[in-house]
Amino acid sequence: ARKKLSKLKKTPAVTIDGTPVTLLANIEFPDDCKAALENGAVGIGLFRSEFLFMGRNGNISRIPGEEEQFEAYKKAVTLMKGRPVTIRTIDIGADKPLGTPETSTLNPALGKRAIRYCLAEPELFLAQLRAILRASAFGPVKLLIPMLVHAFEIDQTLAFIEEAKAQLREAKIKFDEKIQIGAMVEVPAAILGLPMFTSRLDFISIGTNDLIQYALAIDRVDPEVAHLYNPLHPAILTMLSMTIWAADKANIPVSICGEMAGDAHLTRLLLGMGLREFSMHPAQLLNVKQEILSSNMKLLKPKVDKVLSLVEEAAIEEAVQQLQLEKT
Ligand code: PEP
Ligand code: MG
Repeated sequence: ARKKLSKLKKTPAVTIDGTPVTLLANIEFPDDCKAALENGAVGIGLFRSEFLFMGRNGNISRIPGEEEQFEAYKKAVTLMKGRPVTIRTIDIGADKPLGTPETSTLNPALGKRAIRYCLAEPELFLAQLRAILRASAFGPVKLLIPMLVHAFEIDQTLAFIEEAKAQLREAKIKFDEKIQIGAMVEVPAAILGLPMFTSRLDFISIGTNDLIQYALAIDRVDPEVAHLYNPLHPAILTMLSMTIWAADKANIPVSICGEMAGDAHLTRLLLGMGLREFSMHPAQLLNVKQEILSSNMKLLKPKVDKVLSLVEEAAIEEAVQQLQLEKT
């Protein structure tokens, strides 16, 4: 099956009735761009930059300097040959903890993680922003910010980006003045407060891994509650369809970069909700493309509308399975 799928590498991801879909890759290191391209990715939707900071034990063990980061981001941009590369600023804390015990917090998923950490560490944040901005002189780069919740956090982040830009201008170092800036939407409050995001930013990307964790109150790394972690909970589907709808209304591009985007069993459901941009592990790209190529939006849309009206998990699971089996 793998061999047959590989034939789809260069096939554009378009539904039977002509709806184009953008398939992007999630990467952890610049070298992962090779796998992304081998599987037909048209860009990088999520570069998890914190992996440059991580040791083998999965903890954040070292802080690479601006030059080292710049080289890594530039390498990804160069490998992607003109395709967009979305670089997420470090998402440390929670499931990617800092290496030192004195920095551990009581409830790491709800603690000083991701943008909260960066806003508290200006030198570290500015160095990363400069490194990303400098890479943007070598090809299209987008900046993605994790875990934003409050409007003032967005504003502070934008101010830091302006400061990093000013520092580079002062030093006469080139970067893309119009670099696109987006937010991960991965906390329920961000979804319910979406206008704070759409009025300030160029794009949003839904992080379903954390969204499910926070919406269902289930630690995403705790095996004791793993059986309760269900992407098809009606509350999750409602939040996803709301977000896609609201982003479209606001004319802001929206993607999903959590695991849901790479689950081929869910491709038709997400297509029917209106999602047109998916970012996933490179190994999933062709499976998802195959689903898109065999989907017909005209038939699919009313079926997905019915799924979205269901309120019981079991019924939703069954209906989603049907979407896959039926000719849609
Ligand atoms: C997510 O939360 O869905 C996401 C894509 O980010 P991460 O898995 O790195 O937290
Ligand atoms: Mg996340």
